[in-house]
Amino acid sequence: MNIKTVQLLKNELVSKKSTLLGLHLRNKAIELDVEETPKDSIDRSDIEESWFAKERLSQHWKVELHQIELALQKIEQGSFGICEDCDDEIPVKRLRVRPDAAYCLNCQETAEREIAQGQRPSPTKLSSRATQILQ
Ligand SMILES: [Zn+2]
Repeated sequence: MNIKTVQLLKNELVSKKSTLLGLHLRNKAIELDVEETPKDSIDRSDIEESWFAKERLSQHWKVELHQIELALQKIEQGSFGICEDCDDEIPVKRLRVRPDAAYCLNCQETAEREIAQGQRPSPTKLSSRATQILQ
């Protein structure tokens, strides 16, 4: 992948990160509003429903932020967009969906099959370093 593409993706990631952080701050403001509203003037289930919706969203943001952080780290280390298994380039299209993708599509499929068959530990439980040591 050429430097320009990496730079472009990095810019996208940085701006997405600030959007996510902005949403997060706005969400906090909404939370304060809800807390300051007198409880008896609002149907409790309404509050609970919005609280659950908000929690789901904030989980999603955390995951996305985490993916972006990982991707930015990889950009710094120069390993961004390189498959951890076969050293092939990961397609930009894939990186736009999963900026923290560790494998190219081929290796991802192999990895998923092996995880499903119990031949490879799940990457969510082990870091890639630990996975390498175990192999
Ligand atoms: Zn690969």
